[in-house]
Amino acid sequence: MARMQIIERPSPNHDARSAPIDMLVLHYTGMRKGAEALARLCDPVAQVSAHYTIDEDGTIYRHVEEARRAWHAGVSYWAGETAINARSIGIELVNPGHEFGYRPFAEPQIVSLIALGKGILARHAIAPQRVLGHSDVAPARKTDPGELFPWARLAADGIGLWPSAFGEALDVTTFAAALAKFGYGVPPAVDTPLEAVITAFQRHFRPSTIDGVADDECAAILAALIKAC
Ligand SMILES: [Zn+2]
Repeated sequence: MARMQIIERPSPNHDARSAPIDMLVLHYTGMRKGAEALARLCDPVAQVSAHYTIDEDGTIYRHVEEARRAWHAGVSYWAGETAINARSIGIELVNPGHEFGYRPFAEPQIVSLIALGKGILARHAIAPQRVLGHSDVAPARKTDPGELFPWARLAADGIGLWPSAFGEALDVTTFAAALAKFGYGVPPAVDTPLEAVITAFQRHFRPSTIDGVADDECAAILAALIKAC
C-alpha cells in the first residue's frame, strides 16, 4: 500500500460517542470547490463535520478523531438505529454533486479512499453491509455519494458489500420487507416514501436504472445481498 499522508484540518464540530463504531458512511461534499467544503466542515457555525475529507488529488484531511462523534449523517436510519453519527465514521469526498455538476470520482481520490478505508476496517469491527452511502441512511434527504461512486471496486478491495452472483428474485410484494431486513428504513418504521428508499437502493446497488421501481433485477440483487450478510 502506498504511504498515506494525512493533513490535520481540525473541526470543532464533534462530541462524545454514545455507541461503539460499527458503520462507515460515505458522502460527497456537494459544493463547487473543495476549499469551500473544507471551510464549512470546520466552521463552528455550520455545526457539521466528518472524520475525513478526501480531495480530488487524493489528499486526505482529518477533521475529527475517530474516537469522537463527527456530525455528518443528520437525521438517519439503518437497521433499527437512528443514532448513526454515534456509531459511524464519516468520510467526505470532494465532488460538486448533483446540484453543482456531478462528475466521476477522481482516480487519486479513490486510491486514497481505499487506503484509508482499509485502515478504518482494520481498526474497527465494521461488517461489509454497514459500509454505506449517506443516501442509504437518509433516502428522503440525500443522494450522496451517488450513482457514480465505484461501490463494486471498493468491494473488490474488501470495503463494503457487492453481490457477486444474483440470487433468485424476490417477489416484488416482499421487496419492502426485504429492504427492511437488509437495513433500510421503510415505512411505517420511518416517514420516508417507499419509492425514495428504492431509489436509494438503486443508486447504490443498481445504478444503471434509477427509477424508484422495484423490478426483477433489483429483487435479485437484494436477495443476493441478504444472502451475503
Ligand atoms: Zn452526505
